[in-house]
Amino acid sequence: MKFGGSLLDNEKKLLNVINIINTYYSLEYEIVVVVSALYGITDKISALCDEIKQINRNSLNLFLKNMENVHINLVEKVIHDKKDKHTLLHLLKDLLNEFRDVLLGISILGDVTPKSRDYLFSFGERLSTPIVSFALKSIGINSIFLNGKEVGILTDSNYGDAKPLMNTTKLRVHHKIEPLLKQNIIPVVTGFIGCDQNGDTTTIGRGGSDYSATIIAASINANEVWLWGDVNGLMTADTKIVKNALVLEEVSFSEALELSMFGSKYMHPRALEPVMDSKISVRIRNANNIDHPGTLITQMPTLTYNKTVKSITVIRNTALIDVSGGGLIGSPGTAAKIFDALAKHQVNIMMISQTPSESSITIVVKKEDVDKAIRTLELNFLGKLIKRIDVSENVAVIAVVGSGMRGIKGVAAKTFGAVAKRDINVIMITQGSSELNLAFVIDDKNCEEAVNVLHQEFINVK
Ligand code: ASP
Ligand code: MG
Repeated sequence: MKFGGSLLDNEKKLLNVINIINTYYSLEYEIVVVVSALYGITDKISALCDEIKQINRNSLNLFLKNMENVHINLVEKVIHDKKDKHTLLHLLKDLLNEFRDVLLGISILGDVTPKSRDYLFSFGERLSTPIVSFALKSIGINSIFLNGKEVGILTDSNYGDAKPLMNTTKLRVHHKIEPLLKQNIIPVVTGFIGCDQNGDTTTIGRGGSDYSATIIAASINANEVWLWGDVNGLMTADTKIVKNALVLEEVSFSEALELSMFGSKYMHPRALEPVMDSKISVRIRNANNIDHPGTLITQMPTLTYNKTVKSITVIRNTALIDVSGGGLIGSPGTAAKIFDALAKHQVNIMMISQTPSESSITIVVKKEDVDKAIRTLELNFLGKLIKRIDVSENVAVIAVVGSGMRGIKGVAAKTFGAVAKRDINVIMITQGSSELNLAFVIDDKNCEEAVNVLHQEFINVK
C-alpha cells in the first residue's frame, strides 16, 4: 500500500490512513506500507534548491522552522504514549539537525549538484515514514520504518531520475522484507528514494513513490499494489470537464500508461514497469472512500466491459511548434539533430509529426518549455536547416484512449466527424501503430466542447 503525501498532512488524515492499514491488517493481509513526504514538502525543498544562491541565514532558519513545525505538530497530535513520543521527537530532531547542516554547507557553496539535491529531497520521506510507523505502533501494530537504502533499493547514479537495478534490488528487498512479514511486522518504507552502488542517496523521479511501491511489490511477489490517493480511480474523462464521467473499473497496463499522463491520477511514467513483467495488478484507491473498489490495472482486463474507447483525456497548456524548410528534405539525420538539441536543453516533446514530403516537422511541448524550445531551434538551426518556425500557443492535446480500438475501423472517422460537426478545427493528429491512443491538437478554447462531444460519442452513448 502506498499513501500519497496529501493523505498524511494532518491528524485526521493520518489517523484515517492508520485506520485503513489496520482494517486490512486485522483481516490478516500482509502489508508493506510505502509513504511519500507530507503534502508540499518535496516542492518546498525543490524551490529552496532553485533559490540557493539567494538564501541567507534568516530564510534558511525560516524554512527549517517550517519543516520542524509541520512534522512536530503532527507528532504532538497523534502520538500520545510519553516514551514513544520522546523517542520519535528525538529522532526527528536528529534528522532536522542533519538537514540544517547539509543545507548550511550547500548554501555556503551556493550550488546544488544533482547528487546533493537528491540528498536534500530524501529528508521529506525520511521525516514522514517514522511518524507513520510510530502511529501504527500506537494502536498496537508492530512496525518498523526503513529508507530506500535500508530496504535494499539499488539504483544507478542518475541523480533525480535514477533507475533501479532490479536484479540486485529484488534479492535485497526480498531478503529484508520477508522475515518482517513473517513476524507480523509492518515495514513502513520511504517512497521516492534509492541508493547507488557507492551508497549515495538517489531519487527515482518526481512522483516516484508509486514506483517505489511497485519495485517492492515485484521484489516480494506481492498479490497486488494499492496506490491510495484521493480520487476513486482512473476516469473516463476529467470530471472538471465532463460532469457525468465515470470511474474505470479495469484497464490494461498500457492503457493506464496512456491515462496516467493526463487528468485525475498522475503516475510516474515508469511506475508500472516492475509489475508488468511479474503480472502483479495495481489498484488505484480512494482513501476517503474505502468502500469503492477503485480502478484495477492489470495485464489482461477480464471484464465484459468492452468499449472500444475507454477514456477521453486532455492535456491543456501546451504549445505547438512547426518547423519547416527545404533543408529538412531528404537529408537523413535532420530530425535527430533537432530532437537532440531540444533534449540537451531539457525540452520534453509530447507529440511529433512529419509530413511525408519531409518539408516540415511539428512538435507539441508544454507551454513552460516553449520559450526554451524556440530559443534552441533559433540558435542552432534557423537559417540553416530550418527556414521558418511557427508557434501556436494555447492549444490542447486531446487523446482518445483504449486498446479496444486496435484493428477496429471507423474510430478516427467517428472522432473527427464528431469534432467537425461542432465546427472545431483539428490542427495536428497522431496515432501510434499500437492504435491505443488517437491524439489530436485543437485550439484550447474548444477543448471542453470537444471532450464532451467525444465522451458522449464513445462512452455515454445514449
Ligand atoms: N515526494 C515525492 C514527490 O513529491 C515522491 C512522491 O510523492 O511520490 O515527487
Ligand atoms: Mg507526491
